[in-house]
Amino acid sequence: MTKEHMFIIGSSFREERHEFYSAAMSELPEELRFRAANAVEQLKAAVAEYKNVTYANSLGSESMVLTDLIWREVPQIEVFSIDTGRLYPETYELIERIQHKYGRKLHVYYPQGAKVEGWVAQNGINGFRNGLDERRSCCHIRKIEPFQRALQGKAAWVTGIRKGQSASRALSAPVEWDAAYGLHKISPLLDWSEKDIWTYIRKLRLPYNSLHDTGFPSIGCAPCTRAVQHGEDERAGRWWWERAESRECGLHPRRQLPVAVLATTDL
Ligand code: SF4
Repeated sequence: MTKEHMFIIGSSFREERHEFYSAAMSELPEELRFRAANAVEQLKAAVAEYKNVTYANSLGSESMVLTDLIWREVPQIEVFSIDTGRLYPETYELIERIQHKYGRKLHVYYPQGAKVEGWVAQNGINGFRNGLDERRSCCHIRKIEPFQRALQGKAAWVTGIRKGQSASRALSAPVEWDAAYGLHKISPLLDWSEKDIWTYIRKLRLPYNSLHDTGFPSIGCAPCTRAVQHGEDERAGRWWWERAESRECGLHPRRQLPVAVLATTDL
């Protein structure tokens, strides 16, 4: 096959994808089209304001939407993920599928090997189940330290959190100063519902983690995530052996909630 043939085939493939994308977008409910356009505007505004913006792709369902919006519309934003070393095989498959679909690479950050070795020697391979301190120190080594490295030199980071995910996240704003990491935090999907996310994924035929089809609304490390029962909180499958108020990995620290809120939620 000549280079000219390959160019023609490549061009028609891109055009076909563009045609599919335009048609799929036009089939979205008007309100969701508006939300998607609004999210893109927030991302563009973040790049204009802060220049050096990165997106922490958690590989969950919201991440599929944000990755699509960023790689199509605001490709200046770097997209990164963290491989803790304890992810589900389905999650590694998903990384492959995303990269193949968009022809781009996620920047994958890893924990420091010596730190992981030291922690396992001291606590055991699954020592995070022994107590909150052990769990938090494991999350610190495998998630937070690589996350901090990923944010170094950045002025803002993008997150896919939604208000409907928890009482704590319901208090978030689209743009916040993230004092914990010393940069701005942009949350363009705050007002999206879970239904919005899945309508967008299905209409645009985005890749997603197959575990979502078996009762996993939220997917993290394999030993610390399980499927939830119908009607349970979306995050009930994370660190289920702990009290509900401690179930964050530290990337999105919980706010102090009023007593009334604490009394009426599972936090
Ligand atoms: S989610 Fe579990 S395995 Fe993953 S970093 Fe945290 S404690 Fe460790």
